[in-house]
Amino acid sequence: MAEPRVVVVGGGYAGATIATSLDAVADVTLVEPKDSFVHATGALRAAVDVAWEDRVFFPYDHLLARGRVVHAYAQAVTSTQVRVSAGRVVDADYLVLATGTAYPFPAKFIESDVLVAKARLVRLREALRGARSVMIVGAGPVGLELAGELSSAFPAIDLVIVDQAEDVLTTGDYLPVLRSTIRSQLEARGVSFALGSPLGYLPPVDVGVFAPFTVHTRAGRRIDADLWFRCYGNQPVTDYLVGDLAGARLPDGRVAVAPTLNLRGFPSVFAIGDITDVPESKRASAAIAHAHVAAANIRALIEGGEPVTVHEPAAELVVLPLGPDGGASQLLGPDGTRHVLGASETSAMKGADLYSTAMAELFGAVPRAAD
Ligand SMILES: Cc1cc2nc3c(=O)[nH]c(=O)nc-3n(C[C@H](O)[C@H](O)[C@H](O)COP(=O)(O)OP(=O)(O)OC[C@H]3O[C@@H](n4cnc5c(N)ncnc54)[C@H](O)[C@@H]3O)c2cc1C
Repeated sequence: MAEPRVVVVGGGYAGATIATSLDAVADVTLVEPKDSFVHATGALRAAVDVAWEDRVFFPYDHLLARGRVVHAYAQAVTSTQVRVSAGRVVDADYLVLATGTAYPFPAKFIESDVLVAKARLVRLREALRGARSVMIVGAGPVGLELAGELSSAFPAIDLVIVDQAEDVLTTGDYLPVLRSTIRSQLEARGVSFALGSPLGYLPPVDVGVFAPFTVHTRAGRRIDADLWFRCYGNQPVTDYLVGDLAGARLPDGRVAVAPTLNLRGFPSVFAIGDITDVPESKRASAAIAHAHVAAANIRALIEGGEPVTVHEPAAELVVLPLGPDGGASQLLGPDGTRHVLGASETSAMKGADLYSTAMAELFGAVPRAAD
């Protein structure tokens, strides 16, 4: 009997994990336009430190032992077919949607060719070497993390973080001490904040490009800077859903999933990672957990069983490094109480390695721990 065909659309944290997990039991095709996986968690470090490029970009060549990676955009996807170009369709017995979210450079990339993505990073670092002032728009985790990387690597740059909210980190359930710890560490490095008023207009230049500009907040504060970064606006990528799946797209671009992570009404179509409407913060760790749940359910279906594995959202946490040595984290204790840890613990948990060793293992860049 022919092997069941599993088509995974999107090779980020979720897609790469499930493709690897099912490679031994199914005929797996991973559809992913990029020639290299981008480890977004480490991307902001690579923006300031060339040595990190090899810990952020991992070629897909060694991901699958039996299956294949088709380097193309999925253009039109129904429950049984993925069209990758005008003349090419990939048929699926089981379909996994894992196309994640788009986010501005340098946290994520639109470039499919790693050489082009790296060239953009080279230009950015050159621009930063010549810059005296940088504006970051968005005082959420990404904006703050970027401020941490920039202030660690380029301490002479004047950094200002702008946000319409009155404080940093206002979109999550964070303790005031987390906010004040992050703010005071950044202020100690000379970072300033323009909070409580949105920009009246965005700079008329692309992000990460040296092109001095002046902008004003609506409250009238003038900001002069040499380059800027946009650190808000995580956009789910699901515009390729058509035919019987066209209705699966929610107004915000996400897709609704059952606890077993299949699309409601479609037992053989799963969605995992940032594109799902699972009520939890969007994290790589959650995307990987989704991949294991969906893989277990597809394996059960292949074996003629029922999909019974359900996803339980993990405890909310934030681990927010400010460069390799700084930052703070908010974790949930076993008794349900939230507590905040400081710079050294945050560095040990994430800041020093940024989970890059685990991704290098997944992509065969270093031997897997279980090998
Ligand atoms: C700066 C930064 C730091 C972060 N730090 C952490 C952290 O410390 N811990 C943590 O848990 N999370 C972190 N996150 C969040 C984490 O990166 C996301 O939750 C994660 O990327 C979601 O994984 P995913 O597989 O759903 O999607 P993605 O990683 O976004 O992958 C989606 C993939 O789909 C591909 N794709 C898109 N469109 C198509 C198409 N039409 N056809 C085929 N393929 C397509 C893309 O090329 C991409 O490879 C961070 C995010 C950022 C931006």
